[in-house]
Amino acid sequence: MNMTKCYLCEKGVLKVKEVPYAVYGEPIGKFKGEVCEQCGETFFDEETSLEITEATKSKGLFGMGAKTKIGQAGTTLDIRLPKRIIDFLHLEKGKEVTMYPESKRKLVIEL
Ligand SMILES: [Zn+2]
Repeated sequence: MNMTKCYLCEKGVLKVKEVPYAVYGEPIGKFKGEVCEQCGETFFDEETSLEITEATKSKGLFGMGAKTKIGQAGTTLDIRLPKRIIDFLHLEKGKEVTMYPESKRKLVIEL
């Protein structure tokens, strides 16, 4: 029997499991992965990674991250949101959101 050691912690033994996978909190399916009994890290082979990418694309969740530039409106600054983020989050003009810095490098906007 082939006992593969974890590539990350190098202590645990990897077991093949069906792993539920989610992107931006949306479940996209279960995929065959190797899970470390010790640290819980999951590894997918190249073929499965491609499957996950395809499933992510078919759910319209691929490439959701985007760059945007800060604009200015009077004395305040504004940030334009790309259409696919607007659609995914069902945002509309006038909707109230809460924002706060999570760190000096991360701004969170909660709906
Ligand atoms: Zn491990």
